Amino acid sequence: MTSTLSFRRYLNPRVATPAQVAEVLANPGFGKHTTDHMVTISFDPENGWHDAQVRPFAPLALSPCASVLHYGQAIFEGLKAFRQPDGSVACFRPDANARRFAASAARLAMPELPAELFLSSLTELVALDERWVPEGTGKSLYLRPLMIATSADLVVTAGTRYEYVLVALPTGSYFTGGVKPITAWLSREYVRASPDGTGSAKCAANYAGTLLAQAQAAENGCSQVVWLDAVDRHWVEEMTSMNLFFVFGSGPGARVVTPELSGSLLPGVTRDAIIRIAAELGLDVEERRVSADEWRDTAASGALTEVFACGTAAVVTPVGTVKSADGEIVVNGGRPGSLTMELRRRLVAIQEGVEPDVHGWMHTIA
Ligand SMILES: *Cc1c(COP(=O)(O)O)cnc(C)c1O
Repeated sequence: MTSTLSFRRYLNPRVATPAQVAEVLANPGFGKHTTDHMVTISFDPENGWHDAQVRPFAPLALSPCASVLHYGQAIFEGLKAFRQPDGSVACFRPDANARRFAASAARLAMPELPAELFLSSLTELVALDERWVPEGTGKSLYLRPLMIATSADLVVTAGTRYEYVLVALPTGSYFTGGVKPITAWLSREYVRASPDGTGSAKCAANYAGTLLAQAQAAENGCSQVVWLDAVDRHWVEEMTSMNLFFVFGSGPGARVVTPELSGSLLPGVTRDAIIRIAAELGLDVEERRVSADEWRDTAASGALTEVFACGTAAVVTPVGTVKSADGEIVVNGGRPGSLTMELRRRLVAIQEGVEPDVHGWMHTIA
């Protein structure tokens, strides 16, 4: 029933001028500019999901007692829409994001948004804001769906009223200055997620607890944090908002290894795509545990030839150096690896419609 909701449209009377849009799209940055509209859909126990709207981008009105502000019931997603060579607009694997959004909702005791509603919210927003989808390689429209508990009740229980919100932001490269190997900070002091916790859900609270380590990373000249498992403080989990891959050896015999889904790391859509693309290249792909010691020892011996991180925002990014309180690990002399760059090229080519989409990953939305 709820999956066939129709959206009411309220046009923004003060949209950006064509010159303003052109100026933003020439140099969008990441997460700086929103489009003219947003989507909201409300949930309450009596009506389920209802009142779907596309409306002018504007601040949300919330009670200061809204449960999200106190107990942190907030989840989000991140996916991109790409301008295709024929002028249409296509999203990369939105069905996977819809499923993960539902899984995150379930973990946080929030109502699941039906996948059809998630997908139609993307289409509805881009129908009004299509002029914000940039052209040109490396550029896309970043779509950020989120859900918050809005019920004003300070009793600690799951909320009863929720708001789904979708905003869109034109984006260029996540890292300024192109694809350069990043230097990451291995946090030994803090953990991101624990077994049976919320690590595999894309929830806001997972990030709040990491910002202090992120600040430490910056103090140590690092742009990202590498997380170890919470129990043994031994196994590499992931990096800030990206999953990690390790390449052993080179050429056709190279082995690609990524930490297995431990339950406390986030199952990335990009991670899944890279596993499949690497396998199609004939490479041996393993999902298994990787320890920080293995990283250090195999980097030193030369067996470990490349490390990269991947996620929707940063696509595929080489990791050159990892620093921690007990020293530094440098892989491949701190240079980007050739397989890293090849996997990146192939993924971007599919997303931008330059190479055929044999997996059926692209979903036309405009
Ligand atoms: C979103 C996210 C990722 C990457 O997931 P993608 O679906 O590839 O964008 C990895 N780790 C964390 C903690 C994340 O929040």
